[in-house]
Amino acid sequence: MSKKIVKENWKGVWVFAEQRDGELMSVAFELLGEGRKLADARNTELCAVLLGDNCAENAQILIKYGAEKVYVADDPELKNYRTDAYTKIISEAIEVYKPEILLMGATHIGRDLGPCLAIKANTGLTADCTKLEIGDEEGNLHMTRPAFGGNLMATILCADTRPQMSTVRPGVMEKPEYDETRTGEVINLKVVWHEGDIKAHILEIVHAVGEKVSLAEADVVVAGGAGLGNAKGFELLQQLADKLGGVVGATRAATDAGWIDRSRQVGQTGTTVRPKIYIACGISGAIQHIAGIENSDCIIAINKNESAPIFEIADYGLVGDLYKIVPAIMTELDKEGVSINE
Ligand code: FAD
Repeated sequence: MSKKIVKENWKGVWVFAEQRDGELMSVAFELLGEGRKLADARNTELCAVLLGDNCAENAQILIKYGAEKVYVADDPELKNYRTDAYTKIISEAIEVYKPEILLMGATHIGRDLGPCLAIKANTGLTADCTKLEIGDEEGNLHMTRPAFGGNLMATILCADTRPQMSTVRPGVMEKPEYDETRTGEVINLKVVWHEGDIKAHILEIVHAVGEKVSLAEADVVVAGGAGLGNAKGFELLQQLADKLGGVVGATRAATDAGWIDRSRQVGQTGTTVRPKIYIACGISGAIQHIAGIENSDCIIAINKNESAPIFEIADYGLVGDLYKIVPAIMTELDKEGVSINE
């Protein structure tokens, strides 16, 4: 049972500013954009909480993206994420400063850290939110997320405890403008380690050999579905993606078939993308797939079935065999002077 709290004592909207190798993750900025709206609705301040080693520059970047205050824990032990170290520092800060809302990215780190912080703070956590809004005068956060396989949207409240915590996937919320003129306050958090605080030791960090641009951040995504018919079809899509400077994505049907790695899955249980151009090849347009692509600027669908649901949300639809259409697009792109911007 959680103990009764005095809600008025909890103030401010916090965003966990995830960094890796000293580089702030784009989701931190997206959450600052969303956090701004919530802070304005509550007439309270928007803050970021940043853990790492040599954080001064990143703290200033967060301010330029809208944080009024940045709580910083700067310590060599915090250079790389570790559950126990990060949980200790942030939960101590929550206890002292009492934020009413804490947002974090639904990344591998956020999904690990969020539940640990919620347990420590004796509060709730709603994962994978797609909409956040202040619902009433008491400041209850209405956290909306897909439920029952995406067939309905559930709005969840954490009415009795604080902070109200939620994770949001990268790419779902809009990044705010960077404003060089913004100023803010940096508050240094106390970092004191006792024996046994950090049980996990990092022996080596092995970076996955991957693309330079991640699926979530790519400007162009060329995605394939069951309509490809086999794993080899993805080689064709890779060629098109290379010509456009993009990356390859897939539906769950294609990853389930083992044609491509699961990390490429786009959709409700995969990655949410927000590219300038999303090219869907042999994809029917199931609701769970659409959930991950609907924020794309332009969706181009190639499908041999003119009644495929994907055409309902596509900006451009090409009805026909992808094995004829994709090579034809590449031939056009190869013609001198044709570029993606045209
Ligand atoms: P299909 O629905 O089989 O469609 C294949 C399409 O290819 C058809 O429209 C067909 O006309 C077309 N086609 C066939 N041959 C060609 C050709 N030669 N040229 C052109 N077109 C051709 N799915 C996801 O993608 N992402 C998710 O995150 C996800 N999460 C899920 C979560 C839950 C809880 C559940 C229940 C399902 C989830 N799914 C997800 C699965 C989803 O419901 C669909 O089954 C899946 O998206 C279908 O993939 P598809 O479009 O590749 O295959």
